[in-house]
Amino acid sequence: KVRVRFAPSPTGPLHIGGVRTALFNYLFAKKHGGDFILRIEDTDQNRYVEGAEDYIVESLNWCGIPFDEGIGRDKGFGPYRQSERKHLYKSYAEQLIDSGMAYYAFDTAEELDSQRKACEAEGKTFIYNWQNRRQLKNSLSLSPEEVQSRIGSGENFVIRFKSPQDETLKLKDMVRGEIAVDTNILDDKVLFKGDGMPTYHLANIVDDHLMEITHVIRGEEWLPSLALHVLLYRAFGWDAPEFAHLPLILKPTGKGKLSKRDGDKLGFPVFPLEWKDPKSGDVSRGYREDGYFPEAMINFLALLGWNPGTEQEIFSKEELIRSFEVERVNKSGARFDPEKIKWFNHHYLQQKDDASLSSAFAALLQSKGINTSLPLPRIVSLVKERATFVSDLWEQASFFFEAPVSYNEKAAKKQWKENTADLMRQLIEILEKVTDFSSSKTEESVKTWIADNELGFGQIMPPLRLALVGEMKGPHIFDITEILGREETVNRIEKAVK
Ligand code: GLU
Repeated sequence: KVRVRFAPSPTGPLHIGGVRTALFNYLFAKKHGGDFILRIEDTDQNRYVEGAEDYIVESLNWCGIPFDEGIGRDKGFGPYRQSERKHLYKSYAEQLIDSGMAYYAFDTAEELDSQRKACEAEGKTFIYNWQNRRQLKNSLSLSPEEVQSRIGSGENFVIRFKSPQDETLKLKDMVRGEIAVDTNILDDKVLFKGDGMPTYHLANIVDDHLMEITHVIRGEEWLPSLALHVLLYRAFGWDAPEFAHLPLILKPTGKGKLSKRDGDKLGFPVFPLEWKDPKSGDVSRGYREDGYFPEAMINFLALLGWNPGTEQEIFSKEELIRSFEVERVNKSGARFDPEKIKWFNHHYLQQKDDASLSSAFAALLQSKGINTSLPLPRIVSLVKERATFVSDLWEQASFFFEAPVSYNEKAAKKQWKENTADLMRQLIEILEKVTDFSSSKTEESVKTWIADNELGFGQIMPPLRLALVGEMKGPHIFDITEILGREETVNRIEKAVK
């Protein structure tokens, strides 16, 4: 059975790249009838940020990317927070020591630093590996007694992985195909620290193994760790999962990686939900609060690095699950286009039924202190075409609820002629006489009046619109009169005439 995981570190709000990783994992799992697991990688206590875990869970739920297994949903593979699995990792690190695949190292930060500097002075980069292990302070260079006495006396140590010498690894990635890596460029990475905590690499591999993860789908920034991870599976004698590394998300300009700061700087959200930094108190925008729909977000993110191989752009979640193929993930970076997600939002707003849009709109009106008996579903259906967000409905429809207090000057100059007031007074008389004030009947009466008196439409309709709306915008004019009703319509024209 397919089992995939999203394994964020709770170091801050989940940004768009993280949500995309979660989504691709989810789509892959659902496509293959598998499970999507949420694991919290919180072994680095220094980077832990209060509230980040809740934020991650809430974001996934809001986006509609629910996890099958994770915190609060233990299916027998828990706990799902690495900090609660702390006791597990040490024995695995020791297992590698016993099999000669890892070793204790005692080099202090200062010692490593001076090694680094010495190398740099010769124009080389310092790599802790077979070339210099014997000259450094570790259990490969020191006697077993000394190693025991150092550990016994409480000296700070780490456990390092012994990367192999002179090997060419052939790594497989579902997106990139085969990648050759020369092991001589690999560092002997730290797996376990003296404080009793594993590093990301060890904990990640141990947990993926214990949680029976079949496919690892994650961001490209982890590609450089792939060799080590594959070597770790080999060292443990475990089958490795398959890997897929997702392309970077690039800034709107296409130059450089999209960063968490770009959002606030460039004026669009990069987080699914609003985030208040617990330390600075700074608030960053979120898609939810900005009025985006989860469907738009998911559709947008799915196409950020994946392509269906057709021209189709609009995908429901179900369609995405059906169409998603990890082989169709692009290798090159995906340019983040904040206008594109607006386009999707506009599309999904049109798809909403008028009842649900009206209730969202009603809430908006209420927040503005507007009580109304006007038919909201009708109004919404008339103006939604111009709306990308629910809040745009207000911009498009506010005149229904608030009579104009002023008239667009330019338009008034152009449309309001010498005889307009007189014509509007005549129009009022016509409107008073219309028995059925429905859009079509009113239109019929007004048009007959215009024709009978050999008036031009241009003499009547634009000033009427100005009188009712205050500007030259809005839906069909007789839909407006019907909704406003006779009394309000006449009032507004009278006010304009004065
Ligand atoms: N904790 C890592 C992260 O924050 C997980 C990387 C992985 O999926 O292996 O991205």
